[in-house]
Amino acid sequence: MIIVIRPHTSKEQIDQVIREVEILGYTPAPIHGATQTVVAAIGDERTHANLESLTALPQVESVLRVQKRYKLASRESHPANTLVDVAGVEIGGSKFCLMAGPCSVESEDQLLATAESVKAAGATILRGGAYKPRTSPYEFQGLGEEALRLLRRAGSAQGLGVVTEVMSEQDLPMIVEYADMLQIGSRNMQNFALLKAVGATNKPVLLKRGLSATIQEFLLAAEYIASQGNLHIVLCERGIRTFDNSTRNTCDLGGVSLLKELTHLPVVVDPSHATGRRSLVAPLSRAAAAVGADGIMVEVHPMPEEALSDGQQSLSFGAFADLHQQLAPYVNLRALQLRLSPTTDAAVPAIVASSK
Ligand code: PEP
Ligand code: MN
Repeated sequence: MIIVIRPHTSKEQIDQVIREVEILGYTPAPIHGATQTVVAAIGDERTHANLESLTALPQVESVLRVQKRYKLASRESHPANTLVDVAGVEIGGSKFCLMAGPCSVESEDQLLATAESVKAAGATILRGGAYKPRTSPYEFQGLGEEALRLLRRAGSAQGLGVVTEVMSEQDLPMIVEYADMLQIGSRNMQNFALLKAVGATNKPVLLKRGLSATIQEFLLAAEYIASQGNLHIVLCERGIRTFDNSTRNTCDLGGVSLLKELTHLPVVVDPSHATGRRSLVAPLSRAAAAVGADGIMVEVHPMPEEALSDGQQSLSFGAFADLHQQLAPYVNLRALQLRLSPTTDAAVPAIVASSK
């Protein structure tokens, strides 16, 4: 950290800052300018005390961080892309991953038909909510364990990995038995107890960005999971709240590209929740592939007009198959970009995070 001392501070007061820096476990390196002194505090900012408290001293003007607050999630600590293995499906590598399925699991017929259709159209992971985070307690809350059983059956029948949301720590042991990947929804991105709990499992985690989370908060949420020993994390941009309500959320595609620079973890886009409009799902999916996302997660329903949740943003089977066709040139473009990118240099071994 860098401690900036106010101009015209006496030597005694500068020495006091230097002593405090030592007490807090850093090695002080003062740099004396003509009118102002700065003290470089050498030490790992993530494991030592936070020196921002030194601004309580009247002679301290400001304290600046040098290191990022997240370590395990940062590209500095792992230059090569991490590949997350979800029941044999690799996310973060050369293949663009399609995750698809209904917002909520509603019935056996609905789920089995959807699984068959999305598989035929190129999806490799089946999504479906068993426990739903609904804004109103009077809206459909999900079928719970019955939905988990159906997801497992449908996933296994079609050879698809299964991802479903975990809303509470209490449900985690049961969900772990059925799912291949645990989804942390936007509303729980900063539920730190839940993040630690999924971090203590060896299941891959799909971490969705909070409704108003900064990129730094998003990466620190991933760091919570990683700090418990689980690095099988896929980040999901699903739109954030902004002043504009023309779309359900505002999809931060610049943030996706930035995440690809800042972290080695795979990044996917959820164009369904990001826009809340069926007509915008395909264009945003193409854009996601073009900016270097590692995949998309799309809501698909046999009859979107009858869906118990999020029908307005769900694709029909035909529309999903069409989307898969439309994606081809963008996915090829992404593969070309990957080959040109230094972060995927074949000389740097990728970290393969296995779900086993
Ligand atoms: C979902 O994917 O089912 C969901 C509820 O998404 P989000 O947490 O992004 O709102
Ligand atoms: Mn939904």
